[in-house]
Amino acid sequence: MDNCIFCKIANGAIPSKKVYEDGDMLAFHDIHPVAPVHFLIIPKLHVASLADCDSSHQALLGKLMVLAPQLAREQGLTDGFRIIVNTGRVGRQEVYHLHIHIMGGREPLPTMLRKD
Ligand code: 5GP
Ligand code: ZN
Repeated sequence: MDNCIFCKIANGAIPSKKVYEDGDMLAFHDIHPVAPVHFLIIPKLHVASLADCDSSHQALLGKLMVLAPQLAREQGLTDGFRIIVNTGRVGRQEVYHLHIHIMGGREPLPTMLRKD
Protein backbone atom coordinates (compact mmCIF):
# COMPACT_ATOMS: atom_id res chain seq x y z
CA MET A 1 0.00 0.00 0.00
CA ASP A 2 1.62 3.20 -1.23
CA ASN A 3 0.15 5.56 1.28
CA CYS A 4 0.31 3.45 4.43
CA ILE A 5 2.69 4.66 7.13
CA PHE A 6 3.12 1.20 8.65
CA CYS A 7 3.86 -0.36 5.24
CA LYS A 8 6.57 2.30 4.92
CA ILE A 9 7.92 1.37 8.35
CA ALA A 10 7.76 -2.33 7.38
CA ASN A 11 9.79 -1.76 4.21
CA GLY A 12 12.28 0.59 5.89
CA ALA A 13 11.21 3.76 4.03
CA ILE A 14 10.35 5.32 7.41
CA PRO A 15 12.73 4.56 10.29
CA SER A 16 11.52 3.04 13.56
CA LYS A 17 12.99 1.87 16.85
CA LYS A 18 12.87 -1.83 16.12
CA VAL A 19 12.04 -4.41 18.78
CA TYR A 20 11.89 -7.48 16.54
CA GLU A 21 11.75 -8.45 12.89
CA ASP A 22 11.31 -11.64 10.92
CA GLY A 23 10.05 -12.49 7.44
CA ASP A 24 6.46 -11.52 8.11
CA MET A 25 6.33 -9.55 11.38
CA LEU A 26 7.82 -6.32 12.69
CA ALA A 27 7.71 -4.88 16.19
CA PHE A 28 8.75 -1.32 17.01
CA HIS A 29 8.34 1.24 19.78
CA ASP A 30 5.32 3.54 19.55
CA ILE A 31 6.37 7.09 18.66
CA HIS A 32 4.08 8.48 21.40
CA PRO A 33 4.31 5.97 24.25
CA VAL A 34 1.52 5.99 26.81
CA ALA A 35 3.30 3.60 29.19
CA PRO A 36 6.96 3.08 30.21
CA VAL A 37 7.09 0.24 27.64
CA HIS A 38 4.83 0.65 24.61
CA PHE A 39 5.50 -1.09 21.35
CA LEU A 40 3.50 -2.25 18.36
CA ILE A 41 3.56 -5.51 16.44
CA ILE A 42 2.45 -5.45 12.81
CA PRO A 43 2.29 -8.03 10.07
CA LYS A 44 4.35 -6.91 7.08
CA LEU A 45 1.37 -7.81 4.93
CA HIS A 46 -1.03 -4.87 4.61
CA VAL A 47 -4.29 -5.71 6.35
CA ALA A 48 -6.25 -2.56 7.18
CA SER A 49 -7.90 -3.63 10.40
CA LEU A 50 -8.87 -6.55 12.62
CA ALA A 51 -12.38 -6.01 11.25
CA ASP A 52 -11.05 -7.08 7.84
CA CYS A 53 -9.68 -10.37 9.10
CA ASP A 54 -11.28 -13.72 8.37
CA SER A 55 -10.22 -17.37 8.54
CA SER A 56 -7.56 -16.75 5.88
CA HIS A 57 -5.75 -14.59 8.45
CA GLN A 58 -5.84 -17.19 11.22
CA ALA A 59 -2.16 -18.18 11.04
CA LEU A 60 -1.07 -14.55 10.83
CA LEU A 61 -3.13 -13.56 13.88
CA GLY A 62 -1.90 -16.61 15.77
CA LYS A 63 1.71 -15.68 15.07
CA LEU A 64 1.07 -12.08 16.13
CA MET A 65 -0.46 -13.16 19.43
CA VAL A 66 2.21 -15.74 20.23
CA LEU A 67 4.91 -13.18 19.51
CA ALA A 68 3.37 -10.71 21.97
CA PRO A 69 4.22 -12.44 25.29
CA GLN A 70 7.67 -13.42 23.98
CA LEU A 71 8.56 -9.83 23.07
CA ALA A 72 6.88 -8.49 26.23
CA ARG A 73 9.18 -10.70 28.33
CA GLU A 74 12.21 -9.59 26.33
CA GLN A 75 11.22 -5.96 26.97
CA GLY A 76 11.16 -6.64 30.72
CA LEU A 77 7.39 -7.03 31.15
CA THR A 78 7.68 -10.12 33.34
CA ASP A 79 4.73 -9.29 35.60
CA GLY A 80 2.02 -8.69 33.02
CA PHE A 81 1.13 -6.30 30.25
CA ARG A 82 -1.84 -5.07 28.25
CA ILE A 83 -2.66 -5.62 24.61
CA ILE A 84 -4.97 -3.25 22.75
CA VAL A 85 -6.20 -3.61 19.20
CA ASN A 86 -8.00 -0.39 18.28
CA THR A 87 -10.42 -1.32 15.53
CA GLY A 88 -12.32 0.99 13.21
CA ARG A 89 -13.99 4.34 13.93
CA VAL A 90 -15.58 3.34 17.21
CA GLY A 91 -12.31 1.74 18.35
CA ARG A 92 -10.55 5.03 17.45
CA GLN A 93 -8.10 3.30 15.13
CA GLU A 94 -5.75 5.93 13.70
CA VAL A 95 -3.48 3.88 11.46
CA TYR A 96 -5.31 1.53 9.12
CA HIS A 97 -2.67 -1.21 9.02
CA LEU A 98 -3.37 -3.98 11.50
CA HIS A 99 -1.31 -3.61 14.68
CA ILE A 100 -1.42 -4.61 18.30
CA HIS A 101 -0.24 -2.35 21.12
CA ILE A 102 1.74 -3.96 23.95
CA MET A 103 2.01 -1.80 27.03
CA GLY A 104 3.41 -2.19 30.51
CA GLY A 105 5.94 -1.11 33.08
CA ARG A 106 6.87 -1.68 36.69
CA GLU A 107 3.53 -0.48 38.10
CA PRO A 108 -0.01 -1.56 37.19
CA LEU A 109 -1.46 0.40 34.28
CA PRO A 110 -4.47 2.70 34.72
CA THR A 111 -7.86 1.02 34.54
CA MET A 112 -8.77 0.14 30.99
CA LEU A 113 -11.76 2.43 30.45
CA ARG A 114 -13.32 4.95 32.82
CA LYS A 115 -16.83 4.01 33.85
CA ASP A 116 -18.49 7.43 33.59
P1 5GP B 1 -4.12 3.31 16.64
O1 5GP B 1 -4.28 3.20 15.15
O2 5GP B 1 -4.07 1.97 17.32
O3 5GP B 1 -5.16 4.19 17.26
O4 5GP B 1 -2.76 4.03 16.95
C1 5GP B 1 -1.65 4.04 16.10
C2 5GP B 1 -0.40 4.22 16.93
O5 5GP B 1 0.69 4.35 16.03
C3 5GP B 1 -0.39 5.45 17.83
O6 5GP B 1 -0.17 5.03 19.19
C4 5GP B 1 0.77 6.30 17.31
O7 5GP B 1 1.50 6.93 18.33
C5 5GP B 1 1.60 5.28 16.54
N1 5GP B 1 2.29 5.87 15.40
C6 5GP B 1 1.73 6.63 14.42
N2 5GP B 1 2.67 6.98 13.51
C7 5GP B 1 3.83 6.40 13.91
C8 5GP B 1 5.16 6.40 13.38
O8 5GP B 1 5.45 6.99 12.33
N3 5GP B 1 6.10 5.70 14.06
C9 5GP B 1 5.81 5.03 15.21
N4 5GP B 1 6.82 4.38 15.81
N5 5GP B 1 4.58 5.01 15.75
C10 5GP B 1 3.59 5.69 15.11
ZN1 ZN C 1 0.01 -0.94 5.38
